[in-house]
Amino acid sequence: MTGTALAYAVSDPFDEFAANAHEVLQQWLENLRPTFASERQPTLTALSRLFTETRGELLGGCLQAAIEELYRPQLEETAICCKLCGKQLKRKRLDPKLCSTLHGEFGLKRPYFYCPECCWASHPVDLALGLSRRRHQYDIQEEVVRLGADLPYETAAGHLSRLTGVEVGAHFAFDTLNAVTDHLCPEDVMPSRSEIERRIGEATTAGGNPILVVAIDGAHTPIRPPGGRAHKRGKGEWKETKGLRLYLCSEDDRITHLVSWHRNGDKKRFADDLARITAPSTFMPSPTSNTKTPPPPSSGPRPPLPGSAWAVSPR
Ligand SMILES: [Zn+2]
Repeated sequence: MTGTALAYAVSDPFDEFAANAHEVLQQWLENLRPTFASERQPTLTALSRLFTETRGELLGGCLQAAIEELYRPQLEETAICCKLCGKQLKRKRLDPKLCSTLHGEFGLKRPYFYCPECCWASHPVDLALGLSRRRHQYDIQEEVVRLGADLPYETAAGHLSRLTGVEVGAHFAFDTLNAVTDHLCPEDVMPSRSEIERRIGEATTAGGNPILVVAIDGAHTPIRPPGGRAHKRGKGEWKETKGLRLYLCSEDDRITHLVSWHRNGDKKRFADDLARITAPSTFMPSPTSNTKTPPPPSSGPRPPLPGSAWAVSPR
């Protein structure tokens, strides 16, 4: 590519972005030069690994170039009005932030504003762009939550790092998943009513309807509250860690999972969760359903359970 081809007439944000992105591309290509100078031809696997390891430099740089053009008004802001008192505030400083995404890392310098009368502070770029306060941004957090829900935290973090090239730790996976689960309610994780009806239908045999088993257990766990800049975490207190599992036990000894739910908290909170999970609207067959209501416990002999209820419960 000649120098002439790279000479952009910078007239609009896209042209500016394209010019900066081409500079990043050119640098990335230069870093590949030793591969072409080598006498040894790389295998496809080696080339693929090289691209995976270095794509963050290319795409992270392109992402930064796009943001710097799309958010130029906020990045160059020198004065805004206080949201509480309306007083005009001058920019106090530019705060650097390292942003880690699935496409690589890049840095931003964001204007910082502070109103001494209201103690109101703002980084307008963060709000406009939807930045996470953490270094790893929400696209990474979403993926680590998906993996952490199915795998041990260390395994989840390892898989994400290997597949994306983004280094995350087990603590990050733990903290991120727990931050999400703090806002979950039973309805967020329960199967739909139609899915529950389908499973009940599947567990029903010629020998009879399945029995609904509700297994509940718990333990006392020391929970330490989060610390802050001004205070340490402290000793914390003992709280209930309770969980339940609802499953169907068929005549032929098959176990069909329905719902499982675990929560740290007091008895009242757990009782509220239990009432929501076992609400009639969840388990009573709908008028259009072909599923029969399971018989009451006294209507027939129960099949023996395979060990204790918790022996068959997942984590
Ligand atoms: Zn103010």
